[in-house]
Amino acid sequence: MADVIVIGGGAAGMLAAFSAAESGNRVTLLEKNEKLGKKIYITGKGRCNLTNACDFDAFLSHVTENPRFLYSALRGFSNWDICSLLESHGCPVKTERGDRVFPASNHASDVTKALERALREAGVAIRLGCEVREIRKEPEGGFQLRCRPFEGTGRKEAEVRRKKRGAGSSEEMVFQADAVIVCTGGLSYPTTGSTGDGYRFAEAFGLSCKTPCPSLVPLTVAEGDYQELQGLSLKNVAVSVTPLRAPEQVLYEEQGEMLFAHFGLSGPLILKASAILARQLAEGERFVLSIDLKPALSPEKLDERILRDFSEAKNMNIGNALGKLLPSALRPVILRRAGIGPDRKVHDITKEERHRLAKTIKAFAFTITGTRGFGEAVITKGGVEVSQINPKTMEAKAVPGLFFAGEVLDIDAFTGGFNLQLAWSTGYAAGRYV
Ligand SMILES: Cc1cc2nc3c(=O)[nH]c(=O)nc-3n(C[C@H](O)[C@H](O)[C@H](O)COP(=O)(O)OP(=O)(O)OC[C@H]3O[C@@H](n4cnc5c(N)ncnc54)[C@H](O)[C@@H]3O)c2cc1C
Repeated sequence: MADVIVIGGGAAGMLAAFSAAESGNRVTLLEKNEKLGKKIYITGKGRCNLTNACDFDAFLSHVTENPRFLYSALRGFSNWDICSLLESHGCPVKTERGDRVFPASNHASDVTKALERALREAGVAIRLGCEVREIRKEPEGGFQLRCRPFEGTGRKEAEVRRKKRGAGSSEEMVFQADAVIVCTGGLSYPTTGSTGDGYRFAEAFGLSCKTPCPSLVPLTVAEGDYQELQGLSLKNVAVSVTPLRAPEQVLYEEQGEMLFAHFGLSGPLILKASAILARQLAEGERFVLSIDLKPALSPEKLDERILRDFSEAKNMNIGNALGKLLPSALRPVILRRAGIGPDRKVHDITKEERHRLAKTIKAFAFTITGTRGFGEAVITKGGVEVSQINPKTMEAKAVPGLFFAGEVLDIDAFTGGFNLQLAWSTGYAAGRYV
């Protein structure tokens, strides 16, 4: 029986600890927060979109970084496996639109409760409030972990925690283990405990990490007129993205929902675009994102539609005449972009101006200048480079006994329950082979 330590009690860590214990090891799970799965509570807007029920090939097509690396882990512990593990521990699940799977109760907390039950039954020892600071390889084999009570993210929090613990309890704690599984997550939403510690641990063992950058994150834009549109949500629009330096090269095309925020663009279409652009944006590349506000109408059909609206409102201001076609917040912005004054009378509008208007509606474009920060990013792109990790076992090839699983690795996927599944599957693989 080996002594295994799992660092991080998120999705990957809980599965790693569970499968390591099920495989007959003595397992201790160290988590710096006061509870397990702090991030899980906020997933899926508090409902936890815990996996996606699509088939294997479709699943892999939603993985944006290193899908081939994940082949074995996803086969070894699939989307069905996490559902049956949760169901057998008191958390029935249901599948919604887009094959998204949620707990039947709609409460993310039920996912964590079920996993806690599984951990207890498997005999995992859980240490909360325990922050791992350093991992050292022992000369005679195995590892030593140096930990301290977690001080929290702010000064006030640290004071409260210190008081709670009482005097004299701030000493370092030392743990010994035959093997260590690092499941410390990435850098996104750092208040949940994911502060990039795993990258530091990896680098201390000579492993390289791909520079982390925020992904599934809102985008910032150069044009100021988004500010007039704050709060406006658009449904059934089409978005396409091209590099600023190569307008003919379409990198992303998708139809759906987006919204204008106080800082730029957000919503499902934009988050998905960010997963494709994040790395290049971080490296300084710029893109043009063009919104087709009427994707169901060809340019000719749109012109016919505008003509029809105009014929019913010949003496109106053009701003008002567009009432049926565009939301009110959009009208002044679109007219300005088309170079048409909002108070012009419809009967005054030339054919050329009308065509310019249609063109602007079909290609309402913004220059993407960057992403928002890790504090608003659903996931971190980058992390421990997977070429150094055995894809079947998650063990570092150069450091026997040291394993990595979950978001700390350079793996990520689109939204839809895929990212949690990557954490469940890689965590399970690490625990199974530890
Ligand atoms: C707002 C939001 C919504 C999301 N919604 C979804 C969704 O609905 N579906 C989906 O599939 N994905 C979703 N995700 C992504 C998903 O939550 C992550 O991909 C997943 O949680 C990663 O799991 P992990 O275990 O690798 O890392 P984490 O969940 O980040 O867990 C890492 C754990 O390690 C602990 N830790 C870190 N360093 C140390 C240390 N030194 N010592 C001890 N403990 C340490 C942390 O406290 C933390 O508990 C969402 C993410 C966010 C931010």
